[in-house]
Amino acid sequence: MPRSEIMPLWQKFVEDCHNCRACPLGATRTNCVISRGSIQAPVMLIGEGPGVEEDRQGLPFVGRSGRLLDDLLLALGFEKTDFHIGNIVKCRPPGNRVPTTEEAEACRPLLGRQFNLVKPKLIVTLGSTAWRWFTRQEGQISKIRGQWVKKGGIELMPTFHPAYVLRNPAARTLLWDDLAACYQRLQELRAEARAAADV
Ligand code: SF4
Repeated sequence: MPRSEIMPLWQKFVEDCHNCRACPLGATRTNCVISRGSIQAPVMLIGEGPGVEEDRQGLPFVGRSGRLLDDLLLALGFEKTDFHIGNIVKCRPPGNRVPTTEEAEACRPLLGRQFNLVKPKLIVTLGSTAWRWFTRQEGQISKIRGQWVKKGGIELMPTFHPAYVLRNPAARTLLWDDLAACYQRLQELRAEARAAADV
């Protein structure tokens, strides 16, 4: 869809997010935290929920973990237009607790609309909460990370949350490996699209 058609839909989506009070987190937030990166992007990275700095700035992944994520993505060769970053809930759970199932479910329709606008080819779930939300499966992120999963026609890569990597530096190379696999897969998809266009 051309940008001129996407922008009004995106602006309406953003307005609806800012007006949302569908769960109790809407009453305690400073800002509704929607996204960072390109509005339409082939790769969508999804974390758990905004932290204190994200709540203050109204942007996801802007603290130390966000800087780590950006550093890895850009070092791997991703362009800024290649990715869109968000969370499964858009308002900060007090005390940085994990969002409840009810809160995540209340936010699901907004995230569904976000997917439809972003139109990602690949999804990267950051941490176990986002993984559980997408797949409705339990599992230790250290065991399931790094393996592609097909979900509703989209390829999904589970990996560590960068905040975990900051606390456990040994996991940094594993996060790097998973994002590198994502970069590789993106290049393959682009090559396939070019080959199909040449036929
Ligand atoms: S977390 Fe989601 S569902 Fe809850 S108030 Fe914020 S935008 Fe609405």
